[in-house]
Amino acid sequence: HTDGKQIPKGTTPGRRSRWGVHGCQRNFVFKPSTPAEIEFYQNIQSKTTSSDDDAGQQVPLAAWMPTFVGTLVTGVAENVSIESWAPHTDPELAAHLASLRTNPGLVPKENPILVLENLLVGFSKPNILDIKLGRVLYDELVSEDKKLRMQKVSNETTSGSLGIRICGIKMQRTSKTELLNPSFYQMDEENYVAINKLYGRALAGEEVDDAFKLFFGNENLSEDQIRILYNVFYKRLMLFYNTLLDEEIRMVSSSLLFIYEGDSACWEELNNEHELVKGSILSYLSDSDEEEEADEKQKYLSSLSLIDFAHSTLQPGAGYDENVIVGVESLLKVFERLTTSH
Ligand code: ADP
Ligand code: MN
Repeated sequence: HTDGKQIPKGTTPGRRSRWGVHGCQRNFVFKPSTPAEIEFYQNIQSKTTSSDDDAGQQVPLAAWMPTFVGTLVTGVAENVSIESWAPHTDPELAAHLASLRTNPGLVPKENPILVLENLLVGFSKPNILDIKLGRVLYDELVSEDKKLRMQKVSNETTSGSLGIRICGIKMQRTSKTELLNPSFYQMDEENYVAINKLYGRALAGEEVDDAFKLFFGNENLSEDQIRILYNVFYKRLMLFYNTLLDEEIRMVSSSLLFIYEGDSACWEELNNEHELVKGSILSYLSDSDEEEEADEKQKYLSSLSLIDFAHSTLQPGAGYDENVIVGVESLLKVFERLTTSH
């Protein structure tokens, strides 16, 4: 639900923001969220900005996460005059806001909305893989019923055996994606397929490498470029592993998002060079007074990010997160095989 429903930009008086330009991506995503997720983002981000001195060589956890921009309160603020700006905006939006004002009951009160950096910005043809981390997929707050269901999912899938599970893939079509079981995917926008969670649930442990080969087997890229991707993600996973060893957190049902560029022209433009760790989107936005220049900046050929903290907490004194580390160890083994066999 995060990538589809985005709030139109450039419509609210005094709060205009720039349209994303690369691949028509907007700068931010809006995710209905939980107080726990917001707290996690706030804690992790304030930690990195306030204690740069002990940062050392390590990549801070926040650098693996989308930049947290803020939260939105749902509903229509008292001081917004819908009538005065309705003529200047999308009539549907204006009508929608007017109906929310007259029926405040329609506004979902319980879900604050998280505003995050859109991780697809900087890519022209992004290919995306969502891997859920951890063997245990529930926290202690959950009902007995849900706990049993989550245990079952874990036991029957690679979550249980490897601590990782492929939750979804959105990628450019290839001759291999055409061969997938039709219940596992859907044609998406032009030349893309969306592979659903049933695909990853059906995978046996020994088939996981093939799933990665499917994802990286992009026919717009050369064998050399695919080898670069295996190597660069392997390095990132090592760095990410080191980050996790230092973090006293507990993450449940978080995901690693693998993204790579499938537009060979971009590879050429960037000379096949990958940044291991993404810079913050905020530094990019703060320079954006010089219009053209800002649009030239920050293109990526690949990135690795950690997302989805609805069930994540800080646990000072608890040591590292064994449940998640196990999954990253499995990924390291996958990439060790991919980099040596390819
Ligand atoms: P949930 O699983 O609770 O629906 P997630 O945070 O896992 O929410 O997001 C769901 C999907 O939305 C992800 O698999 C990813 O494809 C996309 N997504 C999430 N956060 C971002 C982001 N910051 N930028 C781009 N895409 C995102
Ligand atoms: Mn998720």
